[in-house]
Amino acid sequence: MTATSSADGHSQTELIVNEIAQELRTLDDGVAWFSGLSPASRRDVLQQVGGYAMQAHITAADGRAGVARSGVKPTANPSVMICMDPPRYGFSGLPADEHVKAFRVLVSVFAVADTRRRHTYCKNACGHPWHNLPSPRSSQQPS
Ligand SMILES: [Zn+2]
Repeated sequence: MTATSSADGHSQTELIVNEIAQELRTLDDGVAWFSGLSPASRRDVLQQVGGYAMQAHITAADGRAGVARSGVKPTANPSVMICMDPPRYGFSGLPADEHVKAFRVLVSVFAVADTRRRHTYCKNACGHPWHNLPSPRSSQQPS
């Protein structure tokens, strides 16, 4: 047993969000996890994922691309917020019934920006632990 992992803390959010971004997990699977959290935890997760999106330097174009694949209407509040230039990040302040939409939008937009980063800046190797996740599938190395 390690002393580091404390229940569903930040590390779990980080892992799940990055697994979705790297297509190791489906968005629906992530939404199922998110939906099972308490309202307070959901706000916490939204704040965290908003932070990831901010760090990934998402653009308005990323916002539109992410919204398109999130399954959320472009007219929904979270979609409008993320497509602003600069984006608005007050997702944890949205009413509770919009939290799932906000999660879908945020994770999808983060995935767009992070995928670009992995394909450019990070190329084949980088020191970001979250870009070097163990694959849940058999680890075959493409040669
Ligand atoms: Zn990286």
